[in-house]
Amino acid sequence: MKQLFPGDKGVFVQYVQLALSRAGFPVAIDGIFGQRTCSFLKDFTGSEQDCQVGDEQWEMLLPYLKGYRTYQVKEGDTLWWIASHLHSSVQRITTANPTLDPTNLTAGTMLYVPFDFPLVSQKTAYTSYLTDWILEGLLIRYPFLHEESVGTSVMGRSMHAIRIGEGKKQVFYNASFHANEWITTPVLLKFAEDYAEAYVRGMQIAGVPASWLYYSFHLCMLPLVNPDGVDLVNEAIWQQPYVEQAEQIAAAYPDIRFPAGWKANIDGIDLNLQFPAGWEQAKEIKYGQGYRSPAPRDFVGEAPLTAPESRAVYEYTKTNNFSLILAYHTQGEVIYWKYLDYEPKQSYRIARYFQEVSGYAVEETPGASGYAGYKDWFIQEYDRPGYTIEAGLGTNPLQMDQFEKIYEDNIGILTGGMTQLV
Ligand SMILES: [Zn+2]
Repeated sequence: MKQLFPGDKGVFVQYVQLALSRAGFPVAIDGIFGQRTCSFLKDFTGSEQDCQVGDEQWEMLLPYLKGYRTYQVKEGDTLWWIASHLHSSVQRITTANPTLDPTNLTAGTMLYVPFDFPLVSQKTAYTSYLTDWILEGLLIRYPFLHEESVGTSVMGRSMHAIRIGEGKKQVFYNASFHANEWITTPVLLKFAEDYAEAYVRGMQIAGVPASWLYYSFHLCMLPLVNPDGVDLVNEAIWQQPYVEQAEQIAAAYPDIRFPAGWKANIDGIDLNLQFPAGWEQAKEIKYGQGYRSPAPRDFVGEAPLTAPESRAVYEYTKTNNFSLILAYHTQGEVIYWKYLDYEPKQSYRIARYFQEVSGYAVEETPGASGYAGYKDWFIQEYDRPGYTIEAGLGTNPLQMDQFEKIYEDNIGILTGGMTQLV
């Protein structure tokens, strides 16, 4: 992990502060490693030495970012005692350790002990690191979730999908095809957490019984399609050659802010212009706009599916049998549902339902961006409902102060992507 020193700024400092605040310290999550952060960190680690975050400190902080720790049962322990002393709850411990007999704790048994706070942060920017920690934590907290590797990014970051449900009908939601649209990643992560928690508690999510969703559908979610690009935008890449390559690419486009305006993968290929559905038309349009080589946005690549991230999503879709897909982007509060003249059965009706529950507008895709996207290819290939959701309003990258509204607006779409298939 990245080493941090006083005076440092950025997303990793935010993560240190998030961990400290979860551990009970009243630190502001402002991404600035200043005096207060320093003194809280010393209190937390019990160290008299200089302030810094190296491997040892990360080791102590990570449980608060992954949302759980492990605990070895001692003679005389009760679940209630463990829960109250380790800031957990009996329900969280029994859920995370499904084979445990709560009335018969055996000394020496290793337990997963989830902290009693929601795992998906609404106060920090997102990166592939935070996403991986959260996915790991969700799988520990809710062992009925499953994880699978969809592929690997240019920089070797794993693309993890999460699966929930035992129903027949499969649906697929993905987010952050575009780097500076990373706020869509926590939308899917929070939905996974809320859905799993509602299922455990026998409750509803957005008015729908979670257990009914669970046994009726099989939801696959890939919350971070473009890990390297998102890490670039949020300045979480410290491998200099990659950053320098991106800076060189960006230098040819002085009108696009760097890195805030970056949408592409780390090689400067737009992952949502890579699909074999009108790719030649997309190429003609984007070349005409001046995007003829790797760029922060809108470069279609040398051929379809040359970017490993796009190919991975393509292969993953081929090996499953999705009845519906949602591709999350920002921004505009718009729902795109068509590709050319393809109008899959039910597609418009479901789009209108999404409009009703979200307040977003149903629109036809504008011509200049109407080709080679993931949803375009999905509709052409399968003739089934596929949607691009442009969440939120403002200038990308949208910041986390918009998150709550975005999530609330979209919760009905996220459940409706399943319930409307009936
Ligand atoms: Zn987008």
